Amino acid sequence: MPLRITDNAPLDALNTFGVSARARRLVELDDPADLPAALAALVGAPARLVLGGGSNLLLAGDFDGTVLRMRTRGRQRQPAAIGEEVSLQAGESWDEAVRWTLDQGLAGLENLAMIPGTCGAAAIQNIGAYGVELAERFAGLSAVDLDTGRQQAFTPEACRFGYRDSVFKQPGGERWLILRLRLRVGPQFAPVLSYAPLAAAFAGRSATPSAAEVATEVRRIRASRLPDPARIGNAGSFFKNPVVNAALAQALHERHPGMPMHPGGSSLSDAPVKLSAGWLIEQCGWKGHRDGDAGVHADHALVLVNHGRASGAELLRLAMAIRASVHERFGLWLEPEPRIVGGS
Ligand SMILES: Cc1cc2nc3c(=O)[nH]c(=O)nc-3n(C[C@H](O)[C@H](O)[C@H](O)COP(=O)(O)OP(=O)(O)OC[C@H]3O[C@@H](n4cnc5c(N)ncnc54)[C@H](O)[C@@H]3O)c2cc1C
Repeated sequence: MPLRITDNAPLDALNTFGVSARARRLVELDDPADLPAALAALVGAPARLVLGGGSNLLLAGDFDGTVLRMRTRGRQRQPAAIGEEVSLQAGESWDEAVRWTLDQGLAGLENLAMIPGTCGAAAIQNIGAYGVELAERFAGLSAVDLDTGRQQAFTPEACRFGYRDSVFKQPGGERWLILRLRLRVGPQFAPVLSYAPLAAAFAGRSATPSAAEVATEVRRIRASRLPDPARIGNAGSFFKNPVVNAALAQALHERHPGMPMHPGGSSLSDAPVKLSAGWLIEQCGWKGHRDGDAGVHADHALVLVNHGRASGAELLRLAMAIRASVHERFGLWLEPEPRIVGGS
């Protein structure tokens, strides 16, 4: 399909919060061969936004600039030094790519099944779930600098992945348009069952579960716990879990003995400790809160929801009120996970 350009384009169906917003211009790229034309369409735009599936985005108002929607498709298997790699175009659906690898008998992505969105965006925040992060399967990516048109290959180190973080979320990182990523997968399979409900599902079985069985269980758990954006608008977890140093964790524990704490993933002596943003929000009384159509999910304090016709600005106002109250009570500033764009 040739490059499609629409002026004054509605974005309502292109964000999983389902909020109403418009872009001054929408450019939709389906065919990688049309990349030069897509880059040319961005020249002179007052602002630009790359869009995948819109599942990690809060449109706080209209976007006075050009939105480039990545819809490029293509997936390939290729041999690698160890095992195999798959190469995925940025516009591929992440979940369809996970299904495809499993159908090919390739393991490695099963814990990340059913995460909404595109493959390109998966690298932006180093998606993670049920004990696995993208970074652990990542081999490299290709991106183009939207300022210069220069293409560059990124190694895992160059991506500087962290907890829901990468170089692409750092200042200046938004100039990179991710085109393709390569992931390590393979027929050899060692299940990651560190997430308690997943371990419980396979407890008592003598045989090692297959990758497909792990993915099926992940899907079952996710479907039973997470709200489906097709039924109620949301962007998954709205805030990142705060990561604090050991001294602050100790001080917080003394003041709030019930506060859940988990290892933050470092072996340093002053190891970071991960707190539960959902618990902090719940303690401040927000779970199930509703302000018009903007609300906090009744079962998940970490998930903001659009009950119908909430505007992005209303959802943002609610998020900021939650953030302020958590700071007032615990002295911690929560960091939003989705990108917030548009509005004044
Ligand atoms: C119900 C639900 C459950 C979720 N569960 C999880 C989960 O378990 N784990 C998790 O990590 N996330 C989760 N998410 C968040 C979201 O699915 C992921 O962050 C996903 O990777 C976003 O993909 P997207 O294509 O929708 O990105 P978008 O929302 O379209 O974009 C997100 C960001 O990436 C940028 N971007 C998108 N594509 C590109 C590209 N090709 N090049 C450069 N920049 C790009 C955008 O500009 C924006 O800054 C969940 C969301 C929902 C709604």
